[in-house]
This record gives sequence, C-alpha cells and structure tokens, in this order.
Amino acid sequence: MNLKEKILGVNVTALPIETLLQDIDRRIHDRDQGRIVAINPEKIMMAQKDEQLARLLNDSAYQIPDGVGVSIASKILKGSIRWRITGVGMMEKLLQQANEKQYRVFFYGAKEETVVKAISNITQKYPALQLAGYINGYEKNNELVVDRINQAKPDIVFVALGSPRQELFMEKHMHRLSATIFQGVGGSFDVFSGNVKRAPALFRKLGLEWLYRLLSQPSRFKRQLALPQFLLLVLKQKSKRAVS
Ligand code: UDP
Repeated sequence: MNLKEKILGVNVTALPIETLLQDIDRRIHDRDQGRIVAINPEKIMMAQKDEQLARLLNDSAYQIPDGVGVSIASKILKGSIRWRITGVGMMEKLLQQANEKQYRVFFYGAKEETVVKAISNITQKYPALQLAGYINGYEKNNELVVDRINQAKPDIVFVALGSPRQELFMEKHMHRLSATIFQGVGGSFDVFSGNVKRAPALFRKLGLEWLYRLLSQPSRFKRQLALPQFLLLVLKQKSKRAVS
C-alpha cells in the first residue's frame, strides 16, 4: 500500500480500513505476504532511539494509525489522517472477514488461559471461523513456534507478544512461515478474553481511550508519558519545516 505519511520518520498508512481489508483479501488470494503493525506515539518514540524498530515498522505492508496521538500529529503536519484504526479494531474486522471467507486463523501470544479464553469468546461470536491453531506467548523455542504455525497452515496469524517483541518476531520469521497476513496485536487477546475491558463507547468517541486506560490501569502511567513528549517533538518538527 503506497499512500503513507511519515511522522517523525515512521510511516503511517493513510487509507481507510475498507481499502486495507480489500487489499488484504487480494494478498490472501495471491499469497502475497504482508505484516500489519499498529503505530502509536509510544512506538514512534521508541523508534526514535531504535533504528532497527524504525526499519521494521517502515518495511511492513500496513501501518495502522492506532491511537488519537497519530491523527493529531497528522493534522499538525498537514497530513490527511483524521481517523484511528486500533489494533483490536483491525483484528475484529479481520476476524469478521475470516469468518465470512473461510480464512484460516492462528493465534500466537499471551498467557495460555488468556489465549484459550479469547479463542472461546471469538469462536462463539464467529461460529464459522476456521481455527488453524494457537500457541501461548511464553514458549521460548521459536523453532517450535514456527513448526506449529507451519503445520497449521493459516492464512492469518495474530501475534500478541507486546512491542517490540511481536514486530521482531514477525519480521524475523515471516519468510519461512506458510501464512500470508501477520498482525501484531499487543494486548488484544487480553481484551478478547475479557480480562481487560475496552474503554466505553463515549471515551472512544471522544478520543479519550488513553484516559480510560490511565484510570483503569494506573501502572501504565509511565508509558503514557510518551504522548506529550511525542506531541512536543511533532510541533518542533513542524516549526523546523516552517523555517527551512
Ligand atoms: N506477552 C507474551 N509473551 C511475552 C511477553 C508478553 O505473550 O514474553 C503478552 C502478554 O501476555 C500480553 C501482551 O503480550 O498479552 C502484551 O500486552 P501489552 O498490553 O503490553 O501490549 P501493547 O499492546 O501495549 O504492546
């Protein structure tokens, strides 16, 4: 997908979710591999200090604008992204699509009981889903993980190991995995399992998911400091551009 905006050196795909889903359909049909990564201020800040992470985010097929900070930055930098595609929202759409089109789905990541509960909730909601298999995210032997995925022959693999572990795994092993679409989904299995609640609709509508998370999981406070730092850096970049 070519329509990308660069925010502090990190690509973000500037296309609506419907277009992404169509392109993913085409990839599955053509067996043209691609990775989906979620871009949020925290990850962009990590990428400022980590060249390898910046490269493997930028080399992915789709960088979805996860988090309100990315669309605010796009607006400041006169880009066109005015929407959000959350990792969990994208995963939900892919599950819907997989359910309709009989794509085979593999779940890799989170604790054993979490991934099992997430799958149980998901298959209840999508009864026609082709479950290719799963493995929890605490298996240390990557070779075993690769073998299990290859034996299961999925079309789509959701990788829930947190960042940057999941992005590293996808990049390192994709070429020898017999699946087409890989999405790094962070804590989404925790959401599908019901262990972690998504923000209520009102918070989501107002772009205040971060506030809800801060209130319900105060231990994430440190991670959220990335947002004001990120916006400051974006404003700095903008004023630099205005001068040059
Ligand atoms: N996790 C895992 N293996 C590990 C470390 C973490 O499977 O070695 C899982 C963890 O159980 C959780 C997810 O990765 O389900 C990370 O969630 P977090 O909310 O930190 O991810 P984020 O979306 O913020 O990157």
